Amino acid sequence: MATRYVWTMDDAGAGGTDMVEAMRRVCRFLETRGVRMTLFVVPKPGGQPMSEEWMNALREARQSGHDLQLHGLTHEDCFEFGPPNWPATDVVPSFIEEFERRREELMPRYTLPNLRARIEEGLAIFRERLGVEPTVFRAPCGAMSKPMFEALRQSGIGYESGTFISGTGYDHLPHRSGVIAQRWVGDFPHTPFRWYSDVVEIPILNEYTWRGAWQREQEFLALAKEDVSRIAQESEVAVLLTHTHGVADNLDYAFRLMDTVIEHARANGLGDFATLGELVTNGELERAVQGTGPDILSI
Ligand SMILES: [Zn+2]
Repeated sequence: MATRYVWTMDDAGAGGTDMVEAMRRVCRFLETRGVRMTLFVVPKPGGQPMSEEWMNALREARQSGHDLQLHGLTHEDCFEFGPPNWPATDVVPSFIEEFERRREELMPRYTLPNLRARIEEGLAIFRERLGVEPTVFRAPCGAMSKPMFEALRQSGIGYESGTFISGTGYDHLPHRSGVIAQRWVGDFPHTPFRWYSDVVEIPILNEYTWRGAWQREQEFLALAKEDVSRIAQESEVAVLLTHTHGVADNLDYAFRLMDTVIEHARANGLGDFATLGELVTNGELERAVQGTGPDILSI
């Protein structure tokens, strides 16, 4: 069994020239390795139209074979499609208090008509400005709700990727354990699985390029290799996470980390790389689905 690994990058479309440049450089780097990436794009960042600079960079990326998928609508905060979830609540523990403080204001967001309207608006922007029909959604900050899944289903999107198999890529943060070691959650499958409203959830393996990770490079390279080896025993599809602002923190480190993972997967015959869009189109994602997920969302 060969695993299909997918590099994903979040928050494309948001931020200024430095973020555009970080995305461009990672795309170019991966192209030299014969790898293409799935970019999760915020179609209306902060409630504003996406800049021409971003539009041009995204069109260029798509022409080079990278994949553009939908990352919320505005991503104005971390509560767009549901209450905050682990591991975002580990990265920013104040999300929990903030949600409680804003509960009355936030709860009305999570109705089916509201969430469906947000998704449809994002789809229309993709269609009109980028000429792309997304097939995969990633909820900003992994904040999701049951009505979000029904809204995706009704909008024709059958795939979501926002849960995590491991959050140890954030343990270097000052308020975390400091232990960069393999630790996976066991409360849902490590493969793509069928979840609410029959949407397929594609769990994220881990993130190794969050801001500051470069300060513990050797440990992160070792962790990435260990995770990538183990997932090959368990799943035919494995999703790796990066963020524009995470890789921009130290691009040379990000390139070394990506190279290590790519070489490790290829040299050990674990598998090769693809985009989520490709795996949806060729049916491999559907074939990798195993089982159904537990009912763990509170809303
Ligand atoms: Zn995001």
